[in-house]
Amino acid sequence: MTDFTMEKGADGVAIITWDTVGKSMNVMSMEAWPVLDGLIDDALADEAVRGIIITSGKEGTFAGGMDLNVIAKMKESAGDNPAKGLMDGLMQTHGILRKIERGGMDDKNKGGKPIACCLPGTALGIGFEIPLACHRIFAADNPKSKIGLPEIMIGIFPGMGGTTRLARMMGAMAASPFLLEGKLSDPKKAKQAGLVHEVTAPDDLIDKAREWVLSEPSIVKPWDEKGYKMPGGEPFHPAGFMTFVGASAMVNGKTQGAFPAAKALLSAVYEGALVPFDTALKIEARWFTNVLMNPSSSAMIRSLFINKEALEKGANRPDAPDQTVKKVGVMGAGMMGAGIALVSAMAGMEVVLIDQKQDAADRGKSYTADYMDKGIKRGKATEEKKEKTLAQITATTDYAALEGCDLIIEAVFEDVGVKAEVTKDVLKHVGPDCIFATNTSTLPITELAKASDTPENFIGIHFFSPVEKMMLVEIIKGQQTGPRAVAKALDYVRQIRKTPIVVNDARFFYCNRCIIPYINEGLRMVGEGVAPALIDNAARQLGFPVGPLQLVDETSIDLGAKIARATKAAMGDDYPDEAVDEIIFWMEGEGRLGRKSNAGFFDYDEKGKRQGYWEGLAEKYPLSEDQPDLITVQHRLMFAQVLEAVRALEEGVLEDIREGDVGAILAWGFAPWSGGPFSWLDIIGTPYAAERCDQLTEEFGPRFATPALLREMADKGQTFYGRFSDEKSAA
Ligand code: NAD
Repeated sequence: MTDFTMEKGADGVAIITWDTVGKSMNVMSMEAWPVLDGLIDDALADEAVRGIIITSGKEGTFAGGMDLNVIAKMKESAGDNPAKGLMDGLMQTHGILRKIERGGMDDKNKGGKPIACCLPGTALGIGFEIPLACHRIFAADNPKSKIGLPEIMIGIFPGMGGTTRLARMMGAMAASPFLLEGKLSDPKKAKQAGLVHEVTAPDDLIDKAREWVLSEPSIVKPWDEKGYKMPGGEPFHPAGFMTFVGASAMVNGKTQGAFPAAKALLSAVYEGALVPFDTALKIEARWFTNVLMNPSSSAMIRSLFINKEALEKGANRPDAPDQTVKKVGVMGAGMMGAGIALVSAMAGMEVVLIDQKQDAADRGKSYTADYMDKGIKRGKATEEKKEKTLAQITATTDYAALEGCDLIIEAVFEDVGVKAEVTKDVLKHVGPDCIFATNTSTLPITELAKASDTPENFIGIHFFSPVEKMMLVEIIKGQQTGPRAVAKALDYVRQIRKTPIVVNDARFFYCNRCIIPYINEGLRMVGEGVAPALIDNAARQLGFPVGPLQLVDETSIDLGAKIARATKAAMGDDYPDEAVDEIIFWMEGEGRLGRKSNAGFFDYDEKGKRQGYWEGLAEKYPLSEDQPDLITVQHRLMFAQVLEAVRALEEGVLEDIREGDVGAILAWGFAPWSGGPFSWLDIIGTPYAAERCDQLTEEFGPRFATPALLREMADKGQTFYGRFSDEKSAA
């Protein structure tokens, strides 16, 4: 059995069907390339064949992309010269795709056979690069299909001709959302954008393609014609010049130069636009090799593709029967409860949303109505969907409505007493098997579980705000949490299509434990007279979506002050953050509570638009004459977080480094190019990390002290993925 088979019809149309053996969706493997190549050779050489159709044997999809082993195998193919292996491998695939594109024409563009590609559904990555090499793309009209090139999202770029072809088809500017942002489209939108040529009823797909193939169409691609000009202008054409200047500024503005793939992609498009097509493919292959050789790309692929998917599929799910949630009770219809009700209802669950007063409960439910209205405006939802979703939510004050719930998620005020009371009241109304989850962000789960007679059914399900946007959910096991509760939480997170991590109970769990030192390090630097813009920009240039000062403005300064007071009360003399408190309490005293009060580290205009840094800050904390260099600021911000991650692993809060890495990127945007805190330590090397910690400790204090685990690994020259992947994590 092979992944590609061919059937030649009496009408002269050869149909090549892609049907990856043993997979539900087609993926391109190393072994499948020569098979496709051989079939193309055969069909082009056969005089009885007038044209070719490439399609999929999988119902409703074309292909999901490339088997990532292809890259690993290419790297290995040239012994100790992986870059050569990659370059050779990429040029071979270019050769096959170029053969399809030329369709057997001679140098004068004469002869040749038309090759159409039929997409019954989703076509991603290489699954769209193959169609792009064909002469005409037919897509079945299925609004759920996704078509595009999402490679940039995992730290690479379309490197099998997709970049060069798309830029030449539509021009650099028009191609940029699809290449630089990995934008995906449904078939109709893909046609509007010029990504596919025809959208047909699913049953007509092959017939339409057959008709076209037999119509003796012209098959010469524009870039193979004499006098081809790139749409929108080439780099030295005035219009093209503006495009590239603009694109370069946009990429650098958005990525702050922190993502190697985006830069490489832009270079491939720019340099490729200056030369003939075949040379452009070679340039694309060079840049792709460059990106694949950068440790950032393998770290990103590992965290954002392989491990994220593994966690979503239940890599750490205990062995328990299916716990699919049917009816969920959400306690508290405030900011978080309203969002939790929304995502649960959208996933098809019956939701009971309870607050103290009916109008508060109704307000929580109206959040879903507003969300759906926005979706309708943008063409992403329908009135029916809105009605159906709203009908699933019962907003009430009556606990009796909770009867039959198999999961409760509590999101009332952050107060042990209030939470305990709610827990006790709820448990009177639900069955003994119901799992009770709290969305607390700071209170220990084990402590809160004391309000329940069945602590094995008590767990933390920690969402991030805004619930509907943030893709990570942190599940926290209390000391007595049982496996069924963990399975329930994981099955629920799967239902709402988010990514879970499972951690053990400890102060601030995992994510907030790392985020707080990041913010605190930024605040400390303000106190030392470091320029606020230097602090925030240093973070943004590391790839963080927002710097620490902007982050504290967004999350609110009084929340920071509240957490600081509670932490201090709990830690007593061990409390390490007096220097931070001075600033945060002073800001609070000044009424500068952040974005919500239109005044924080930043000034805001009446509409809430962020202006510059507040001048009053410099009056209280004058800028020091001697500003630190960028790397020092960046290392302080990075190590403040990654050392917490290492300590969380050391203490058993984290049980799996994959969760530490995936969680950090999804929860607070930890430098995604690095693959996460553990991947970053592996990239810089544990010996250097330990040495740098020693220097930072000497200069800035014991919070940078090298954890014993890191010291030991540095001495042994170990990497985190080397040491821990044998135990649990798949690299
Ligand atoms: P909020 O103040 O917006 O909402 C709390 C809601 O709970 C209010 O509507 C209140 O009326 C209701 N409530 C209070 N006591 C109640 C009771 N006895 N019965 C029923 N309803 C009651 O707060 P929020 O921001 O939604 O936070 C809720 C919880 O989620 C807190 O534990 C918080 O720490 C946690 N959390 C918040 C965030 C965040 O970013 N805001 C993130 C993660 C977790």
